Amino acid sequence: MRVSVAILLGSLLLAASSVALPSESVDSATLVDTAFSSTAGHSNAEKGNKGGSKLSCKVFPGDREWPSDKLFEKLGKQSAGGIVKPDPLAKPCYTGSAFDAAKCGSVSENWADPYLHSGHPSSIMSPLYSGLSCIPTDDPSSGTCSLGGYPVYVLNALNAKDVQLAVKFAREHNIRLVIKNTGHDFSGKSSGAGSLSVRTHAMKSVEFIKKYKKHGWNGSAFKVGAGVQVLELYQAAAGQGLVVVGGEAESVGFTGGYMQGGGHSPISGLLGMAADHILSLEVVLASGQIVTASTTSYPDLFYAIRGGGGSTFGIVTSATVKAFPDFPCTKSSFTFTSSARDLANLNTLENSDFWTVFEEYLKHMKAHTDVGAYAYLSVIPMGPNPNQLTFGMQSFFAPKKTAEQTIAMLQPVFDKAAEVNITIDNLDTQYHPSFFPAWRAGFPKERIGGWNSQPASRMFPKRLWKDSSSISALFKAIREVISVPGGMLIGLQLQAPLQDRKVTNAVNPAFRENVLHAITFTGWPAELRDLKAIKDYQREFSEVTMKKWRDLAPESGAYLNEADINEPNWQQSFYGGGKRYQKLLKIKKKYDPRGIFYAETTVGSEEWTTDEDRIGRLCPVSKKGGKA
Ligand SMILES: Cc1cc2nc3c(=O)[nH]c(=O)nc-3n(C[C@H](O)[C@H](O)[C@H](O)COP(=O)(O)OP(=O)(O)OC[C@H]3O[C@@H](n4cnc5c(N)ncnc54)[C@H](O)[C@@H]3O)c2cc1C
Repeated sequence: MRVSVAILLGSLLLAASSVALPSESVDSATLVDTAFSSTAGHSNAEKGNKGGSKLSCKVFPGDREWPSDKLFEKLGKQSAGGIVKPDPLAKPCYTGSAFDAAKCGSVSENWADPYLHSGHPSSIMSPLYSGLSCIPTDDPSSGTCSLGGYPVYVLNALNAKDVQLAVKFAREHNIRLVIKNTGHDFSGKSSGAGSLSVRTHAMKSVEFIKKYKKHGWNGSAFKVGAGVQVLELYQAAAGQGLVVVGGEAESVGFTGGYMQGGGHSPISGLLGMAADHILSLEVVLASGQIVTASTTSYPDLFYAIRGGGGSTFGIVTSATVKAFPDFPCTKSSFTFTSSARDLANLNTLENSDFWTVFEEYLKHMKAHTDVGAYAYLSVIPMGPNPNQLTFGMQSFFAPKKTAEQTIAMLQPVFDKAAEVNITIDNLDTQYHPSFFPAWRAGFPKERIGGWNSQPASRMFPKRLWKDSSSISALFKAIREVISVPGGMLIGLQLQAPLQDRKVTNAVNPAFRENVLHAITFTGWPAELRDLKAIKDYQREFSEVTMKKWRDLAPESGAYLNEADINEPNWQQSFYGGGKRYQKLLKIKKKYDPRGIFYAETTVGSEEWTTDEDRIGRLCPVSKKGGKA
């Protein structure tokens, strides 16, 4: 969620495009029986893993056991979508046979566009986790472009059968398998070195079910293919006069990492998390078998996938989700910046007028979310003086509220700004009689793809708004953490109450208490490529800086989809720790005893390791902590 105020002001708002949704054929039979011819290496690869839960290192390119190109091609021919061996997206920028100045120019110009990466077989939006192995450059001889942490082969799945083929191939050859939907993951979890990637992007079916009378629901629903993005689902729902709980960003995939991580939404205040509304799932298991998971079939798997994280328990090929009658919404956006007095005294006053207004806003956050409002805001250093701060309210989103009611919620902040001579700029408040146009107006396409920063986050719970001293402590911690060179805040202000008490799922319990999901970043010079040097920035950030936020609410957590990959005690922060984590681990081991599905910080991933730079072979962790 990297934004600039240019984005906050909506300058990149795209016109809604109509998206064709080709139908997808899903084979819901059991495991497809495919015969792969065995090589000498193949049987060796199987040896370490046969028949049980004993883990062994994954076979890596260059190993004798690594499947031949012919075998990969054969796999491609058996699938409906085919297989490719993609170059990294920015390869045309580098000296060599692929050099192409025009293509490089286009890649560089559009690098921040999420659709460039979701439309490429292997590119991801956080290239740090591919080892910075091929970053766009205007100097072709400035370095090299290598595969780094990108997959070697990508199977373009068109249906569940293709997904089964990929899982079975990875299992038989003991090679690492990764799953890519859109590539949005903040921690690069849809990529992996020396892997076969199964890409779900083309599984675009959206089926409308007018009356769904099962699993405790009596209403409409949509059966959503694995590759459907938020905009496509919202459009389908709006076409029926309905609303589905999805993300704020149009390009995020619904069924993959988003929903499986829990999935917060501009309408979470009314309806909770996306995962709360899933009725059933079609899932390809590590065995290659396809199953339907719901409250009545594979209920443990159904529990775990809804909030327990992507790339862990199986590959979801479709999700059936509740749809609700439409409702009106108001969105409001505005900005303010350091006062003239702040600017004249930047070294002594430290933006005190700016912070006075921010603190006033902070005081009201719980009251806003108590009535179902959501906000997506930022505090960013911006302007000719690097110490000048700008507050950007990309969208204050108030479902079922009029424009007048919305402005009334914001008025105390506007009054405080007037008191300290800060002007509220770019105020744009719009009431819409239905969700879709309000969401469209409130959430322009975002910019992504930065390679010299890393996020971390914390969910600040309701109890921190108990009295003025707890609010002051929160204010102080936020101000301290972002008042460093280049520091910034992205705030997602939301409550996500569970609407239906009968629903139980693996959503991080911290969401149920949340008022502010605060994200901040550490950064380093853009030209730095030395991953070891970058680690020093990351270590200080995770261990020292972020401790200030963790200490404020140690019982809370962080959102696994928008978090620090180096989060200490991530089992507690991302999954609730203790018995909750143990339950998820048990389900992981039941359905994936051999670790077919892996990504860093996913349930069970503590049993695996790559190299320090995250681009080496994947191996089980030895008892001593290194590779087994
Ligand atoms: C610009 C931007 C805006 C965002 N807005 C929101 C928001 O409003 N609300 C919110 O909650 N989050 C938001 N996020 C975070 C988002 O939820 C995560 O990045 C999420 O991982 C994206 O899922 P994806 O499937 O689209 O991405 P991918 O990167 O393709 O996949 C993410 C993870 O899920 C796995 N995966 C993908 N498909 C499947 C599948 N079918 N079965 C099993 N595993 C799968 C991948 O292997 C990977 O581990 C945003 C992120 C960005 C970059």
